[in-house]
Amino acid sequence: TWTNVPQGPPDAILGVTEAFKKNTNVKKMNLGVGAYRDDAGKPYVLSSVKKAEHKLINSNMDKEYAGIMGLPDFTAAAGRLAYGDNSPAITENKLAITQSISGTGALRIGAAFLSKFYPHSKNILVPNPTWGNHIPIMEHSGLTLEKYSYFDKQTNGLNIDGMLEDFHKAPKNTILLLHACAHNPTGVDPTPAQWDEISKVVKERDHFVFFDMAYQGFASGDCNRDAYALRKFVDEGHSVVLAQSFAKNMGLYGERVGSFSVVCADQEERARVESQLKIIIRPMYSNPPIHGARLVSTVLNTPELKEEWLGEVKVMADRIITMRNKLRGHLENDFGSKKNWNHITNQIGMFCYSGMTPEQVDKIKEDWHIYLTRDGRISMAGISSDNVKYLAEAIHDVTKD
Ligand code: PMP
Repeated sequence: TWTNVPQGPPDAILGVTEAFKKNTNVKKMNLGVGAYRDDAGKPYVLSSVKKAEHKLINSNMDKEYAGIMGLPDFTAAAGRLAYGDNSPAITENKLAITQSISGTGALRIGAAFLSKFYPHSKNILVPNPTWGNHIPIMEHSGLTLEKYSYFDKQTNGLNIDGMLEDFHKAPKNTILLLHACAHNPTGVDPTPAQWDEISKVVKERDHFVFFDMAYQGFASGDCNRDAYALRKFVDEGHSVVLAQSFAKNMGLYGERVGSFSVVCADQEERARVESQLKIIIRPMYSNPPIHGARLVSTVLNTPELKEEWLGEVKVMADRIITMRNKLRGHLENDFGSKKNWNHITNQIGMFCYSGMTPEQVDKIKEDWHIYLTRDGRISMAGISSDNVKYLAEAIHDVTKD
């Protein structure tokens, strides 16, 4: 029956892990997948999350279905974390928000909602480069995609002029996808002043913003600071939508907890939007899983656990920053690399866009057993005190001439 089914290519990111698993060398490193590891290289379950899990088990809850939009205690807390307790979106009850299957599911619901109801355009601009999965997610929902300038290969930093110019040139009312913080794959974010400029152009051109916030807290270690762009845009009167994920900042990757939200003009609009979100979700998966959302809700709604969690987010972010400093230090001081490595410490969040070419990525895999995506993206969370020097030696070796 299926002789017509062609073999598809492996996923660009998850394929790296498959190749890594096959390698038996003791020094091998997996810098592909964006999942946090502790300094011993082990997956990390947050203490606040473990405590919430114990609380849940002891409370003997049932396993009934959630509603189509998930658990209200979860979505209310998730909305406050993203937009801020005092945001008019929250205090005036104007936020349409639904639980989602992590950030990916939120993007998928959001793309479907925009494709069906955004009145001005079916075109979305995404940064060049962006997280690879953005492209098929948007296309599956019937949006067409174009890219805006983002990364500057010369400086390994932000091409703010190109970005602003592309937003100027785009037809009015274009949908723009913006990474709220800790841009994946580049680790390059606009500064607050640059966000202010971006907001101005978006306003002038009446563009519409779809924020993707998969790393709140991971960029600076501070969840409020990392929400700067989202909150600024809401304050300035943009009507925005948001995909939010708890995969990284609560270490809940496989639990699939997130939200999709729409900032509405008033409560009446919110009710209409929510009714349509339900109609989109029902035939996709009926209603979301409950365990992860209960964990997040317990952490965010229990003051001691929330405080502990905020501390743990900072510990994760700080460990990554320490690895950035060590990696750059070893390259420059121990191996005498003459190349400019400022971007390793200037970039933020989970990833470093190293500037390595696809050929250099192949060579570091062959000669050093180090695995990363061919765009040269390094998942910083995969580095530890024990192997950072080995990695620096390897990078120097493949980049020196
Ligand atoms: N957006 C971006 C930019 C991401 O990097 C990721 C995770 N790699 C996601 C969304 C979604 O991840 P998840 O579905 O695991 O929440």
